[in-house]
Parts: sequence; structure tokens; C-alpha cells
Amino acid sequence: MSTDVSATAPGRLTPVLTDNWDADRSWTLESYRSTGGYEGWRKALTMDPADIVTLVKESGLRGRGGAGFPTGLKWSFLPKPDGGPRYLVVNADESEPGTCKDVPLMLANPHSLIEGVAITSYAIGSVKAFIYLRGETVHVYRRLLAAVREAREAGLIGTGLGPDGTYELDVVVHAGAGAYICGEETALLDSLEGRRGQPRLKPPFPAVAGLYARPTVVNNVESIASVPGILRHGTEWFTAMGTEKSTGHGIFSVSGHVRNPGQFEAPFGITMRELIELAGGMRKGHRLKFWTPGGSSTPILTEADLDVPLDYESVGAAGSMLATRALMVFDETTSVVRVIARWTDFYQHESCGKCTPCREGTYWMKQVMHRIESGTALPSDVDLLLDVSANIAGRSFCALGDASAVPIQSGIQHFRAEFEAGTHTPAWELFPYEASTVF
Ligand code: NAD
Ligand code: SF4
Repeated sequence: MSTDVSATAPGRLTPVLTDNWDADRSWTLESYRSTGGYEGWRKALTMDPADIVTLVKESGLRGRGGAGFPTGLKWSFLPKPDGGPRYLVVNADESEPGTCKDVPLMLANPHSLIEGVAITSYAIGSVKAFIYLRGETVHVYRRLLAAVREAREAGLIGTGLGPDGTYELDVVVHAGAGAYICGEETALLDSLEGRRGQPRLKPPFPAVAGLYARPTVVNNVESIASVPGILRHGTEWFTAMGTEKSTGHGIFSVSGHVRNPGQFEAPFGITMRELIELAGGMRKGHRLKFWTPGGSSTPILTEADLDVPLDYESVGAAGSMLATRALMVFDETTSVVRVIARWTDFYQHESCGKCTPCREGTYWMKQVMHRIESGTALPSDVDLLLDVSANIAGRSFCALGDASAVPIQSGIQHFRAEFEAGTHTPAWELFPYEASTVF
């Protein structure tokens, strides 16, 4: 981290979490400490845990996993201590198509996450924290294990912590088995408990009854990694970035048809036009057709929305959701039908099968999408898609069902003609059978 983090880097970038990514062996404790790493943890140990919760509340930090729920508020939902265990679980199961911020963060700067885990655990009174990692990312698993070991050997976590040496913290890194649904916090908890990952009914929220039915805070990697900066620099520094209701910095993953795709850390409120410029512009000779603000689960947007500030409120007002800031860019060579057919395959494959609208509906939508993609659909199939998707959205057990309906609904809203181009009036309707012509 630079010493003067209030100064913005060229353009609109605010490198905080990403600042040391290019440093030599940036993932080591030595590298992290050389830029002020673990200063926030040292400061936290001199504070009353309740004051840390208040500080994070005042910073306005919102959950970086997608939903944008206020982080400090979530911590404050934990019931009063009853002598039993309470847990911190970090959701590192990053799986949303197009989202690529937590994996590079954990690879390049794992200690920012571990420092955040230490501060958060201390603040909420937990002595055991879990990092639930997406199973396919074995390289990240190894890096996290090494970083936890380094922190333990340096006495930053483990036993004998705090001013009177009575605080202790154990951090467990757990690799899942690669199921998208295990990114849903309660399915994640089921999986962590050793069961098949399927969403639980909420309420009770995990804050009240989470892991092993005990009070549990579940937070995204980037949310937790943002906490040390707030401890070190204070809430004024944090709220000076971003907008009034979407404060601070965030990592925006820009992928697709731009010249230099990658992660760009910027204040909330930056626009897509600025991010495309930072990514080197559209690939040569091509123009934007559509883009997603938060991966495949958010309604697509078009050129008309390029100047919408990327904060929760403004993107919502534009008819979409900021969610995970997975900005996938598609140029005019892209078939919107083909893209949405792939996303629909994904949701059908990842549906956990617990509830009927999603389990059956995603399968139907997949079949109809493939008919349209192959040009063998009926004219009525476009409205059939809208009908099926409307019966999934809002009627499913968890957000995956809603997410599966979103791309289809917004795709048809913006590019209906492309969907209709995959349909044909059947011959029996063009040449209706008339008994008189035969007899
Ligand atoms: P949600 O709005 O239901 O909940 C957000 C968080 O706030 C949860 O932790 C929940 O426990 C907590 N919460 C909400 N109300 C509460 C209350 N009254 N009391 C206590 N806690 C409360 O959203 P969700 O279903 O957890 O997540 C949906 C989001 O996940 C979507 O916006 C999507 O963008 C995102 N997502 C992210 C990825 C990824 O790879 N990062 C993948 C899929 C989806
Ligand atoms: Fe499972 Fe889909 Fe229902 Fe969620 S909406 S519980 S993923 S079947």
C-alpha cells in the first residue's frame, strides 16, 4: 500500500487492495509488511471490539460479494455473547460468470485478507474463522495456506494475542468442490458442515443461526480485505472515495472485447465509459453492443448507459444491479442469443434442484434458447421464454433462480429482433390443411 493512499493514481484509479500486486513476491508477509501491512491489526488490538464495529459501520462499507449489504450493520446483528462459539466465514467461492477480483486478490495479496479476518474476528468475538474457497482454484488454496502459516509463525494469529495475551484466533482454509450454489451463504455453510450444499430458509439469517447453528458472520473476500485500510486510515479517508451511499474503493473486473482486460480498482461512481478507456478502449475497429455491470446475473446495459455512475443506487435506477462489478464487454460481432444461451446452460447446470421453478424452469429455458440459437424455434417461443422466466423470478427459493431469468428478460427487452430471427413460422401454419383441397 502506498503511504499516501489519498492521492489517486493516474486517471480515476484508487489502488488500495491492488496497490502492491506488481511488487516482487507481493504475496509474502515481508512484502505486505513493508507497505504497512498488519498496522490495522496492531491498532485494532488496542481498541474495544465494539468500537471497531462502530468504525466499520460509519465507514459505510457495503458487502463486496454482490448484494451490497452494510458490513458493520451485519456484524452488529450478532446476538449478545452467550459463552458459546461464534464464527467468521469468508465467502471466497467467487463463481459469478465474469467476476474475477477475489481470486487475483488472494493470489497477489493474501495477507490483506488474513489481516481483515483477524480484525473482523476480534471485533465480533470469534476465535475461529473459516475461508471457504472455490474448489477449482488449487493455486489459491496453496497460497492461502502458506500465508496463514506465515502469519501464525509471525505471531500475528494463533494464541497469546491482544494487550493481555488472552485473545486467540485459528484460521482454517477450506476448499469446496466447485459448485456455484455454494457461493450462496447458507449453501456454503451446509457444505462447510460436510453436507450437500443447498440453500437454507432465511430467516434465521446466519448472524443468528449460521455455522453449526451458531451466530456467524459471512462476508466476501473483498469486504474483509477492505477492513484493514479503514482501521489504518479512518472513516474520513474511506468515505472521501465513492458516493454518499456507496462509499470507498472497489475492484472492477473488465473483460471481453476491450484491448486490455483486467482488474481496475476505482472509487464507486466511476463510469463504464471511464473503465473502458482505462482498459485501452474497445478492440480496434469495433464498437460496443452491450455490457453487464455485475456478471450474467444482472440485466444487460447498452451504450446509452455508459455514463451511469457505477454505484448501487445509480445502476439500480438504470434498471440493472451493480452486484459483483463483473463488467463484461461485448462488441457488435457478438450474438446476444448465443451469449445468453451459454449463460442459461450455466444456470441449468448449477441449479441445485431444491425448488421446482428453478430446477424445471432452467431446463425449459435452456431448451427454448437452443431452439432459438439453432433457428428452429416457433414464433411463440420468444413469449414462451418470457413466460417461463417470469415464473422463475421471484418464485424460487434462492437468488440463483432469479439470476437465471434476468439475462433472458433483459436480452429480449433490448434485442428482441435477434431472438425473433431464430424463429420460423412452421410449414403447417403457412400452408394450412384444408379438407376441401384433398377430398
Ligand atoms: P441478500 O440481499 O439476501 O443478503 C445479503 C447479506 O445480508 C447476507 O449475508 C444476508 O445474510 C444479510 N442480511 C440480509 N438481510 C438481513 C437481516 N434482516 N438480518 C441479518 N442479515 C441480513 O443477498 P444474497 O442472496 O446473500 O446474495 C445475492 C448476491 O450475491 C447477488 O447480488 C449477486 O450479485 C451475488 N453473487 C455473487 C457471486 C460471486 O461470485 N461473488 C455469485 C453469485 C451471486
Ligand atoms: Fe436450488 Fe435453484 Fe432453488 Fe436456488 S433457486 S434453491 S439453486 S433449485
